[in-house]
Amino acid sequence: MPRLQSQAILKSVLKDYFTGLSAPIAWCTSAGPAELLRAMGFQVYFPENHGALLGASRAALKYIPHAHQAGYQSEVCSYLTADIGAWLMKETPLTQAYGLPSVPKPDFIVFNTNQCREVAEWFNFFGREFDCPVMGIFPPRYVEEISQHHIDDVASQFKELIAMGEKIIGKKMDPEKLAEIVTLSKEGSHLWKQVLDTGKSTPAPITFFDGCILMAPIVVLRGTQICIDFYKEALKELTNLKNSGIGHIPDEKIRIYWEGMPIWGRLKWLSQLFAENQTSVVASTYCNSWVFDDFDPDNPIDSMAYAYTQIFINRGENSKLDMMKSLLKTFNVDGVVFHDSKTCFSNANNRFGLPNRLKKETGIDVLNIDGDLNDLRFFSDGQTKTKLETFIEQLQMKKSAG
Ligand code: SF4
Repeated sequence: MPRLQSQAILKSVLKDYFTGLSAPIAWCTSAGPAELLRAMGFQVYFPENHGALLGASRAALKYIPHAHQAGYQSEVCSYLTADIGAWLMKETPLTQAYGLPSVPKPDFIVFNTNQCREVAEWFNFFGREFDCPVMGIFPPRYVEEISQHHIDDVASQFKELIAMGEKIIGKKMDPEKLAEIVTLSKEGSHLWKQVLDTGKSTPAPITFFDGCILMAPIVVLRGTQICIDFYKEALKELTNLKNSGIGHIPDEKIRIYWEGMPIWGRLKWLSQLFAENQTSVVASTYCNSWVFDDFDPDNPIDSMAYAYTQIFINRGENSKLDMMKSLLKTFNVDGVVFHDSKTCFSNANNRFGLPNRLKKETGIDVLNIDGDLNDLRFFSDGQTKTKLETFIEQLQMKKSAG
C-alpha cells in the first residue's frame, strides 16, 4: 500500500496514459518541446520515462549488457543502454504493467540536447530501427545568462520542427491550440512546484523519493488537463498533511538536499535508510527541473525557447551554484548529498569543484556518493550506508553544538 493516496491515484493515471497512446505518436526527450508536438496533434511518448521504469523495476541490469554487445559502452547513459538493450531483447515492462506488446511505434522522433548529447545517439538509434524521421534541437549549452540571441536560435529551430511535424501529420498547427497547451503546461508546472514546496515545512510531508514517483505526470502528461487534475489532488493531500503537522518522518532531525540523478533501483532502500536515521531528503535539483515558470501563452514559442534552455542541467557552474543556494535556503537544508552518477556525465555535478564552492559560500556540509541511475554495478549498498550514516551523525553533532 503506497504511503500517499496520490501514489495510488497515479497508477490509474499512468495506466490510462499508456493504454491510450495511439497514432500519430511522437517520441520526445523529457525536457523537450512536448507542447509543440501536442499542439500539432501528436500523442507524446517519453523514452526516458521508460528508462526510469527499467531502473525502478531493476530490469535494467538484464538489458544493459545487450546494448554493450551492440557497441554502446558501459560508461554511456544507462537509460540509453537499458532502453536499447530491452528493445534488442524485444521486451518492455509496459507489457506486464499495461498489456502493451511493445513500446509505441513512433511517427516522429524529437530530442533536445539541452540535457546531454547522449539523447541524440539514443533517439537516432530508434530512428534507424523504425525508419522514422528524427529531428534534434541543439540549443547553446552550459550557458550562464540566457540572451535574446540564444532564444532566437532555439525559437528558429522550434519553427523548423513545426514545419517538419506539419509535413508528417499533414496539417497546419493551430496557434490557438498551442497557446491552450502552453497554458495547461504552465498551470501543471506551477502546481508541481507547489507540491514540491510542501517539503519546506518541518516535518516535511513529501521527500525526494516521493517526488521521484509523483513527477511522472509533469514529464509524460505536461500540457494536459489530466496533469493539472492530478497535481491539484496531490497538493490537497500534501497540504492537509502539512497543516496537520504530519511528516514522512515524524521525528525529523536532519534535512538533506539531493543533487543529481535518482538511483532508481534503490529508491525504497534509500528512503528507508534516511527514515531510520530521522532524516528527510526535502529537496532536489532533479525534481525541480520540471518547474517551468516562464511559459507564456501570449508568446509561446519564444517563452518555450527560454524555458527549455534555462534548465539547471544546461547551465554554467556559476548559475548552478546560485540556483542551489536559493533552494538550500528556502528548504532550510542541513546537508547536501551529491550523487556522482557514473553513466550520466551531464547530471553529475560534483566533478568540477561545485561541492567545495557550495560549502565555502553557504557553510553547509556536502557528501559525494558513487552510484548510477540504472546500472547498480556502480553502487555499493554497504559503502553508501556507512557514508550516509556517518554524514548524518556529523550533521546531528554540528546541529546540537549550535
Ligand atoms: S541527462 Fe543523463 S540520464 Fe538523462 S539521458 Fe542524458 S545522459 Fe542519460
